[in-house]
Amino acid sequence: MVTRLYTHPIFLEHLTPSGHPERPDRLRAIERVLDDEAFAALDRVKAPEGDEATILYAHPEDFVARVRAAIPETGIVSIDADTSASPKSWQAAVTAIGAANAAVDDVFEGRAANAFVAARPPGHHAEKTTAMGFCLFNTAAIAARYAQKKHQAERVAVVDWDVHHGNGTQDIFWDDPSVLYCSTHQMPLYPGTGAKNETGAGNIVNAPLAPRTGSEVFRDAFLSRVLPALDDFAPDLIIISAGFDAHHRDPLAEINLTEEDFDWATGQLMERAGRHSGNRLVSLLEGGYDLQGLAFSVAAHVGRLMKG
Ligand SMILES: [Zn+2]
Repeated sequence: MVTRLYTHPIFLEHLTPSGHPERPDRLRAIERVLDDEAFAALDRVKAPEGDEATILYAHPEDFVARVRAAIPETGIVSIDADTSASPKSWQAAVTAIGAANAAVDDVFEGRAANAFVAARPPGHHAEKTTAMGFCLFNTAAIAARYAQKKHQAERVAVVDWDVHHGNGTQDIFWDDPSVLYCSTHQMPLYPGTGAKNETGAGNIVNAPLAPRTGSEVFRDAFLSRVLPALDDFAPDLIIISAGFDAHHRDPLAEINLTEEDFDWATGQLMERAGRHSGNRLVSLLEGGYDLQGLAFSVAAHVGRLMKG
């Protein structure tokens, strides 16, 4: 069984203001590193057109209409202080959702062992009714609900190792015990949520990490909080909100992980997917803003996914 990689040129056309960390070059850096012959066996697939109706799995209609109305004809508009949209942002966001949902289909229908979606804009900060933190729609949340509706998954786990707390995913699943949300993230840091005592319906597991900690503290949080929660929950699918901004080179945070930590965490989640989820695992790119740290981390992550 293969590992699928979803990409699409439209993901380069979601534009942000000059100097913004969430920029198209992130995907170019990933594309370059995955061009290496070590990744020749990747099953590379162009993301399909997304189904706009699936956005409603995680967001109400009036919010979706508001985002659509904000998309400019030309130039770049601000949605909030750090979130923006350009003429192709709608199509990029919907295609990111299409790729994530297609990856869910692949793992349920046996076309791939697992999949990595290299898309932007990212999604985990998008709350039910708020686009924020570089995110328009919550791709991971939509994919989780899609797995439940299309493939009758009863329980879906979203594991988020982006260095920022996925406030959006937490917001969407706050009172939905059919989805487990586990996050490791630096605290204090944007967006300010993600304390241990935020537990939703008992389905939210936050493991905040203190600034300037690294591998040991991260792995301990994984071993003591994330993995036991996965074992208790026994998901039918694991979705990774795979941000790589906890890498030590990243300019937006102060957690000192290396690419070996992402390799290790990937292996741990694959082991749990094997135990509980029929190996079904879908990984979605979130943050990661140092181009070298991002590229090396993605290489470690995807390389581990390919080992099956
Ligand atoms: Zn982040």
